[in-house]
Amino acid sequence: MRLHRTIAALALGGLAFLAAGCGKEGSPPIKGPQPDQLPVYQVDENFSLPSSPTWKKAKSRGNLVVGVKDDQPYLGEKDPATGAYSGFDIEIAKMTSASLGFAPDTVDFRTIASANRETALQNGQIDYYVGTYTINDMRKKLVGFAGPYYVAGQRLLVRADERSIRGPQDLAGKKVCSASGSTPLQRIQEDYPQAEAIAYDTYSVCVDNLLTLQVDAVTTDDTILLGYAAKVPDELRVVGKAFSKEPYGIGVIRSDNALRFAIDDALEANEKNGNWNKAYQATLGQSGVPAPAPPPIDRYPAN
Ligand code: GLU
Repeated sequence: MRLHRTIAALALGGLAFLAAGCGKEGSPPIKGPQPDQLPVYQVDENFSLPSSPTWKKAKSRGNLVVGVKDDQPYLGEKDPATGAYSGFDIEIAKMTSASLGFAPDTVDFRTIASANRETALQNGQIDYYVGTYTINDMRKKLVGFAGPYYVAGQRLLVRADERSIRGPQDLAGKKVCSASGSTPLQRIQEDYPQAEAIAYDTYSVCVDNLLTLQVDAVTTDDTILLGYAAKVPDELRVVGKAFSKEPYGIGVIRSDNALRFAIDDALEANEKNGNWNKAYQATLGQSGVPAPAPPPIDRYPAN
């Protein structure tokens, strides 16, 4: 069992192995994103947005830099062999950038961890950010958010043989891992102070620690946890009901409202023409959650 877990942990650490779709010996291949079912996004060659400093700079540079995650299966995952990124967030980035006039070969993805998103946007390290990024009032003081384009909820991931944790009420005295700078970590610290919160930069490190018995649970959005569980279903389980609402937004620098509204338009157009649904089915839908209706865009006024 121990060895089994260690192997699973190594497998999760080496995402190439999983991205290649190899299951454990004797088990069927794991369902990854379905590249042949992905929509092709029409690049709007005539698009122009002179009122957006971010867009203007990117256009004259000739490329758009989008911040993403690289270790979240079905959402934002990098294949270490090819360097290619895939997942629902990556598709959201591709569909919006095509609407903003950027061809796929001019879009560069840069991995940014949860705790570094606001500074990356403020410093202009990235032009926008698409990576399970919850819209909330505190963050709105620092950055702008287009969207939402999806609503997730916080849940718990435990080892398959765990019997004592069924929800956040069972976390007293338990080691619970989450990512630094995330809303789920903050919620555990504030609302469940009896739990021993442990923070790493990424959720994949938390999952490795769960598989090697260093922590008792991992907590974050259901979308992220279901992706890890789908990769090693014999080892991991998502338990309990969602205990928060996490509306996902596209992060932009706070001063660039023109960019924010243009991304809102792009999201709306791609929801209307069916691309959003197709992209969802081919990515996040593969981890077992049927496509919901996309949430209404919140085009909040410039301030
Ligand atoms: N959606 C949550 C957040 O934005 C958790 C996922 C993440 O860390 O990206 O903090």
